[in-house]
Amino acid sequence: MSRFDYDLFVIGAGSGGVRAARISSGHGARVAICEESRVGGTCVIRGCVPKKLLVYSSQFASDFSDSEGYGWSVSGAEFSWPKLIRAKDDEIDRLNRIYHSLLDNAGVTTVMGRGRVVDAHTVEVDSRRYTAGKILVAVGGRPNLPDAPGVDLAITSDEAFDLDKLPERILIAGGGYVAVEFAGILAGLGSEVTLVYRGDKVLRGFDDDLRGVVEAGMNGRGIRIVYNQVIDEIRADGDRREVKMSGGSTEHFDQVMFAIGRDPYTADLGLDAAGVETGPRGRIKVDEYSRSSCPSIYAVGDVTDRVALTPVALMEGHAFADTCFGNMERTVDHDSVPCAVFSQPPAASVGLTEHAARARHDRVRIFRSTFTPMKYTLSGRKEKALMKLVVEADSDRVVGVHLAGPDAPEILQGFAVAVRAGLTKADFDRTIGIHPTSAEELVTLRQPVD
Ligand code: NDP
Repeated sequence: MSRFDYDLFVIGAGSGGVRAARISSGHGARVAICEESRVGGTCVIRGCVPKKLLVYSSQFASDFSDSEGYGWSVSGAEFSWPKLIRAKDDEIDRLNRIYHSLLDNAGVTTVMGRGRVVDAHTVEVDSRRYTAGKILVAVGGRPNLPDAPGVDLAITSDEAFDLDKLPERILIAGGGYVAVEFAGILAGLGSEVTLVYRGDKVLRGFDDDLRGVVEAGMNGRGIRIVYNQVIDEIRADGDRREVKMSGGSTEHFDQVMFAIGRDPYTADLGLDAAGVETGPRGRIKVDEYSRSSCPSIYAVGDVTDRVALTPVALMEGHAFADTCFGNMERTVDHDSVPCAVFSQPPAASVGLTEHAARARHDRVRIFRSTFTPMKYTLSGRKEKALMKLVVEADSDRVVGVHLAGPDAPEILQGFAVAVRAGLTKADFDRTIGIHPTSAEELVTLRQPVD
């Protein structure tokens, strides 16, 4: 008989926590999980899933206008924000119920409430204490806000999903995933969107060519981008927001949204009490098995200092469960993680950017095609797509693939397997393309660019 109530207590029922709980239970562990908000976590409740639904909705606007070149006349199309939000909420409710039943069916006990670590083997939820052989912290992150006057008048992506009405004029601060994706969504739905970014090109960290194509697409879709500035101050002016920018100008918007990164939700979690070390911005330091500096406490997902993406958290949660309860030592390789930005046009990437490859390897060959997607020939849309391969010349290995344009995320997933498998440019060349597609460019690029 164990001296603990459970073998595993998971704090946070998001992607990583739920996966770890279910798999551990499947391995025979007695598992409980607590959640203070809704089961499903950021991705399902206020992240990837509702975001993608909003992206789909916003794309109809450009589809309607593109359709005219194909002989259609679309008139009288009307958009209702409340209807979209209701439909989105219904879908999230459905997924939330599925997550609950996944946990129930796996034999995991769900405790609703905020968990706090009391010591190496104890978690407290709403003043009730639970003991466990191992504790897994999977509490994710929260949107950051800057230290500027009037910041409480602004929203983050958390609130953007539930606004009463579509803002006529919105200012979005940031140049990363969330800022660029929401700029596309809201512009597509009819808002006048301004994006203010402290740098000089959106999507820092991505390949420069990809960034250029996304930026041009955003401009082409009417998104105004203000570079090298931040928001200095926000004031209320009736229902509107008066915003002072660092460049000295003042403008009015209906909403101001910050999308300037996320920090782990570790404040007041009791980690110090158990000797769990955290790094910059409260990120829990873990080893390759997701174990923290306290041997019985582990952490997976955005709360750690690794790659903050849902599929990574899922993999980390699964590897943790297999290692700790399944007698299978598994680690997660955080190299060459594919990722996508659901901007408009969308972008997707795996492996090294051209810049990173040149820094790491002596000889690099670049293969690149920038072209007008076939769909836009008749529609007349002036938007380019990009297909780019980064090849390490001595081994001929394809070490990076960078795409921007229609279906880029769908196309990239398969090519991510090729990059992970270490395939060479010659392997790509031997593959016959599928015609007519955009993706065939990736196997027909023959001439390296200078
Ligand atoms: P990101 O880290 O992607 O981008 C943050 C942006 O805000 C950067 O442009 C950054 O500038 C800027 N910034 C940071 N601090 C400040 C500041 N104090 N003042 C002004 N600007 C600032 O964060 P997001 O919030 O966009 O997304 C959070 C995370 O969520 C992402 O890292 C990603 O892991 C995940 N996510 C993934 C998605 C996907 O897979 N499609 C979609 C949405 C989110 P700089 O570039 O100069 O650092």
